[in-house]
Amino acid sequence: MQLADCVWEINKKNSNSRSQILNGLKGHEYDFIFCPHESIRSAAWVLQLKSKEKIGFKKWWNFFVFTKRVQKNKKLPDALRQLSLLQTVSIDITDKIKNYSGGVPEWASMSLVNEINKTVHPLKWQLKQPVLFLAPGSVWATKRWTRDGYKKVAQEFGKTHTVVFVGTSDERELCASLQEELPNSLNLAGQTSVLDLLFLFKNGKLLICNDSGAMHVASAAGLPTAAVFGPTVLGFGYQPWQTKSTVIEKKMSCRPCGKHGHQVCPIGTHACMKDISADEVLEKARKLIQDPSH
Ligand code: SF4
Repeated sequence: MQLADCVWEINKKNSNSRSQILNGLKGHEYDFIFCPHESIRSAAWVLQLKSKEKIGFKKWWNFFVFTKRVQKNKKLPDALRQLSLLQTVSIDITDKIKNYSGGVPEWASMSLVNEINKTVHPLKWQLKQPVLFLAPGSVWATKRWTRDGYKKVAQEFGKTHTVVFVGTSDERELCASLQEELPNSLNLAGQTSVLDLLFLFKNGKLLICNDSGAMHVASAAGLPTAAVFGPTVLGFGYQPWQTKSTVIEKKMSCRPCGKHGHQVCPIGTHACMKDISADEVLEKARKLIQDPSH
């Protein structure tokens, strides 16, 4: 199934990469540009491109960038907020968003994910059921729950489950260090594509993770998820988008402290994560396994 005709991958740390891609994009004329990103930099890009319609979220300053601007509905999960840009061209989406009443609607389930059920993935035969996935990484250091917490949770679940660590190649070291202390566990960090993860998650019992990409892949796969939130909050719209989920978080006046979290805690304590005990996570995770629809 082809989802996109073309994907431009930007290396954000490399200014040459940014200008090369912008120059490439400038070589075409478009019918529509939808810009779900709200930064001034993205708006500056849109301004330089040729398109009959340019559609983005309404900000006080961006009236000269877009031909149509959509008021962002903060009550919607972010997946639907982004789709709401299509209201400007689709009555169908307008109706669906107007009638949204919570949870993941049938129409939003991914046919791509359903296709995965038909695939026989080589990893299928290596994982002894039941499988518990742990994704201890995050690009942002403050969004990571403690290594000790993940270790304790893995030790407990390792008594009854096959524990599998997953993550990106940057998280391979963290996952490997945990896996070394848990001889019966597996480390697949850096070895799985998004499609591999979708397949694996479709065959798992539970994921324990931070507010990270793995959480969203699990939601797409319908894998029950216990997510530990620190510097970010559910109101940002990036909660696990499924009913079989639970979030473990502390009420603290400093939360949220940034849209993405930080590499270093601004107040130096990182208490939003450090104060969450392994017992709290274990209790919520076990409840979720017993009753995924709670
Ligand atoms: S400022 Fe508060 S919310 Fe942000 S990382 Fe530190 S403890 Fe967590």
